[in-house]
Amino acid sequence: MKIAPFTFESLPSRVVFGAGALARVPDELDRLGWKRALVLVTPQRRGQGEELAAALGSRAAGLFAEARPHVPVDMVMRARAAAAAAGADCTVSIGGGSTVGLGKALSLDPGLPQLAIATTYAGSEMTPLWGITEGGVKQTGRDVRVQPRAVVYDPLLTLGLPGRVTAASAMNAIAHCVEALYSIDANPMTSLSAEEGIRALAAGARAAVAAPDDIDARTLALYGAYLSGSALGAVGMALHHKLCHVLGGAFDLPHAETHAIVLPHVVRFNQSGAPEAIARAARALGAGDAAAALFDLLAELGLPRRLDEIGLRAEDLPRAADLVTQRSYPNPRAVTREDALELLGDALVGRLR
Ligand code: NAD
Repeated sequence: MKIAPFTFESLPSRVVFGAGALARVPDELDRLGWKRALVLVTPQRRGQGEELAAALGSRAAGLFAEARPHVPVDMVMRARAAAAAAGADCTVSIGGGSTVGLGKALSLDPGLPQLAIATTYAGSEMTPLWGITEGGVKQTGRDVRVQPRAVVYDPLLTLGLPGRVTAASAMNAIAHCVEALYSIDANPMTSLSAEEGIRALAAGARAAVAAPDDIDARTLALYGAYLSGSALGAVGMALHHKLCHVLGGAFDLPHAETHAIVLPHVVRFNQSGAPEAIARAARALGAGDAAAALFDLLAELGLPRRLDEIGLRAEDLPRAADLVTQRSYPNPRAVTREDALELLGDALVGRLR
């Protein structure tokens, strides 16, 4: 094995993982010295937010149950007002990437640190990446201030995660791992996390979709999510994340499903540019051909394999290809407009080359 020179900066975050870890949250807040938490949750999960606030007792300053996808700025403004009114000194988010994303916006301004309780596999809780959407445009950035200071992973909280969210958010997490393996910043530590993350996510998601109450399957998938988020937070992403950002932002496609459908096509495209990294992904999937294995996994998990099933139209492809190739970014292979058109055309109709 040959080790190339590398730079690796590990991010400051404490992880508490395991069945029942939710009960540790009050102690974690005390350890951090935080006294007045604003609890963040989506409207669908309000009940869970209320239970958490009750368990935190006097440490809970209030509940904000309006977290929505893509972190819209009007929601952020209302949450900032709620934090000020409650005199909050921190946030405790319970949910997936949408809820954690709101906590990150509050870490940027007014600077409230976040404890994140992750209940999906998206991985946002392990990253310093933030996004806020204003006027239909999602502004994104990397800022160590938004990295949650503590993360609690409790597989018991994921038992009720619907099959479709389980499958799609696990594929989203696998996509972080795959792009981490061939990232321009890849280093031995992130590659270890990424390869193991794919192994855990694929096996965990498969078993959890088949038996949603299987605690071992849920634990494995959540462990994979942790590894995936760590890799995503540490190294830059490439073509796949660019494509999905464009499809979500300009065409309003659902985030995790888009990642799931596009991934096998990007892996096929990048295969010649990153053969070793993609061989590691294949090994983690227990297959010879990573792209084909991911394509099969979509069907096995009951996910769609065509972008036209989730709202993209053939007439959208030229604009999408323009947006994807407007600016250059690191990728194992150069991407021309024709390449992007071909790849998206395949993903539109579920044809893997
Ligand atoms: P999500 O947070 O939008 O959650 C999806 C749905 O599942 C919501 O309705 C939520 O209430 C529900 N839910 C969550 N946990 C549940 C549970 N345990 N049981 C039942 N229902 C539950 O979806 P997501 O896939 O976690 O996150 C997607 C968002 O995260 C996207 O906006 C994406 O851009 C962002 N993201 C950010 C990063 C980052 O590093 N900044 C990384 C990955 C994803």
